[in-house]
Amino acid sequence: MSTTTSAPPKIQTDLFINGRFVKAEDGRTAPTINPHDGSTIADVAQAGKADVDKAVKAAQAAFPKWSSLAASDRGKLLMRLADRIEERATELATLETMDTGHPMRDTTRLDVPRTAATFRYFGGMADKFEGAVIPVDQGFLNYTLRQPVGVVGQIVPWNFPLMFTSWKMGPALAAGNTVVLKPAALTPLSSLRIAELMAEVGIPEGVVNILPGAGSAVGQYIAEHRDIAKVAFTGSTDVGKKIVQASAGNLKRVQLELGGKGANIVFGDANVNAAVGGSAFAIFHNQGQACIAGSRLILHEAIADEFLEKFIRLAKSITIGNPLDPTTEMGPLTSLGHRDKVLGYVQIAKDQGGKVLTGGAAPKRPELAAGYYVEPTVVEADARHRVSCEEVFGPFVVVTKFKTDEEAIALANGTEYGLGGGLWTTNLQRAHLVARHMRSGMVWINCYKRVNPASPFGGVGASGYGREMGFEAMHHYTEVKSVWVNVDANIPPYYPRS
Ligand code: NAD
Repeated sequence: MSTTTSAPPKIQTDLFINGRFVKAEDGRTAPTINPHDGSTIADVAQAGKADVDKAVKAAQAAFPKWSSLAASDRGKLLMRLADRIEERATELATLETMDTGHPMRDTTRLDVPRTAATFRYFGGMADKFEGAVIPVDQGFLNYTLRQPVGVVGQIVPWNFPLMFTSWKMGPALAAGNTVVLKPAALTPLSSLRIAELMAEVGIPEGVVNILPGAGSAVGQYIAEHRDIAKVAFTGSTDVGKKIVQASAGNLKRVQLELGGKGANIVFGDANVNAAVGGSAFAIFHNQGQACIAGSRLILHEAIADEFLEKFIRLAKSITIGNPLDPTTEMGPLTSLGHRDKVLGYVQIAKDQGGKVLTGGAAPKRPELAAGYYVEPTVVEADARHRVSCEEVFGPFVVVTKFKTDEEAIALANGTEYGLGGGLWTTNLQRAHLVARHMRSGMVWINCYKRVNPASPFGGVGASGYGREMGFEAMHHYTEVKSVWVNVDANIPPYYPRS
């Protein structure tokens, strides 16, 4: 097996508070595990409430200076960080691959470049995000200021930990906020390394604080904290609801990027070969551990047999293996518990009468036996079955068939989620019409899972609210202030009594 030959990545295992790596107040640590073989990569400090308080104080203290820095200077620092990430690309990709199981070919080609691109984009955005002058009553000037909200709590999941540090921190920092970020307990390493790179490029102490730890303790406390002005959360819908409840104490702003059950419709007039390749990427990239995964294949009956024959052949040909091997296309799932959950859904599918068309088990290869692997799995099921409605979050796609466009739209809109969905057709009118009727935050036509820092990302319904990326994200990380000025000496500064 050929593996990357670069030097081992630098591993930080302490909390990052006020510009320094420090132990947890109570000295607690927890192992972070390599999902390829179950070995411990490192023992990482686990924050508690006292550490959150310390981090919030540091972020509060840093806020006045950071928020009043010239926007272009904040931008310059974020762009410098993007450069530094690119200089450390192989190291960061290796770290991410070890911690998550995401194959090296993806962390190298997608995660790291996208992380750098996002910080660079928001670096450029910092001095381009403007208020407005509003035409109001004669004699008055009314303008808006876009001001940072303050200390922002950010909670991220384990599926794309590196990329999500940039999605969350890029706009927050560009707008002048300071940050307390909690990575998922399973995958803390890349965010800690990013914090170190931030310090190296000169982002001042206290502006960013990183607190690995348990969601139920640290995450919950961040969501409750009275001195945190906003919480931005990416994770499951169930935890999202808890965040909303916890946020009520100080009515903090909440932004939620939650689960999904992406509909991927292939119409009878689609280019089947393109749809097969795109649909495989949609569900099997990152072992299907993506909120926007195309986890429901909705196939027109005219092309269903041809599509499935080609799709299953492709699924079976995917190279599964050690994610550090540059030829590996699918690595392990990120944790043992999650692997078991995904395999549990195979049984649920069978129990409800679903038919496993391929996969449905761990690969039977001794060299992978200690890892958390699952074969690419294709299941045919009724739209009302649990596997068609619940998020599996693995390399597990459910197939249903349709006859009419109306039926396809109804199937697509048939879950409580509404994050991303795709459709494949050569009919221009159908493409735009169906896109308009899909109840989701994002639609991909003849492609799937495209993301870009300039393009809004987020969902509706049980997939949450608010948008990341682009100008939309900047709106969510700023408060708008309306300023009125009396500019006409002849106008009394109050309403006359008569
Ligand atoms: P999760 O909800 O279990 O955890 C997400 C984060 O929240 C983790 O850091 C966790 O420690 C923390 N957390 C857990 N309990 C908490 C609590 N009570 N209070 C505060 N924080 C708490 O999700 P996960 O299993 O890590 O990630 C998978 C989920 O994330 C999937 O549902 C997936 O769809 C979703 N996701 C959504 C998006 C999106 O942009 N919409 C992107 C990626 C993942």
